[in-house]
Amino acid sequence: KDEVNIIAGALEFRKKVVSDVMTKLEDVFMLSNDAILDFETVSEIMKQGYSRIPVYDGVRSNIVTVLYIKDLAFVDPDDNTPLSTLCNFYQNPCNFVFEDTTLDIMFKQFKEGIKGHMAIVQRVNSEGEGDPFYETVGIVTLEDVIEELIQSE
Ligand code: ATP
Ligand code: ATP
Repeated sequence: KDEVNIIAGALEFRKKVVSDVMTKLEDVFMLSNDAILDFETVSEIMKQGYSRIPVYDGVRSNIVTVLYIKDLAFVDPDDNTPLSTLCNFYQNPCNFVFEDTTLDIMFKQFKEGIKGHMAIVQRVNSEGEGDPFYETVGIVTLEDVIEELIQSE
């Protein structure tokens, strides 16, 4: 029954964490901040169809800002605008969240607008010899959290 599934889902919700529902870093469509917004790049962005695109500096795990598809409204591909020009203009902040954040907390933060509608998922990597460091492992959006809540499997 639907009600049973929804209640069961809501109870599971407190036990599940962000890393259970996130999109893994290797599956995230992102752009390098040295990209040029030429015809080829803009076409690829449109083809992918995401509203929010993480932008990295150097390596994919180093996400520095987010490009919103709406930021492209006044971009003419013939101008070959550097992505960095757009990023410097909008300066959209990235929101970070730890991978072990439970979904009820994540949902609250999205709902209250604290984390926009997308957050960059990090974990503390304390393997190896050196000091522990923050490692980016994926992204999570409001949609990922809601999907988990209403799933009726
Ligand atoms: P919106 O529905 O607000 O237009 P969207 O369709 O771009 O946004 P969401 O609906 O927030 O994205 O998320 C849908 C799924 O796509 C989620 O699983 C999310 O993790 C994933 N996702 C969002 N952005 C990206 C991206 N840039 N690369 C890969 N996956 C993404
Ligand atoms: P949705 O349409 O799904 O509600 P959104 O367009 O509001 O999403 P969010 O991901 O919720 O996008 O917000 C991301 C960030 O985009 C926010 O932190 C906000 O600063 C910025 N933003 C959203 N809309 C505007 C806008 N009209 N002008 C300037 N900044 C905006």
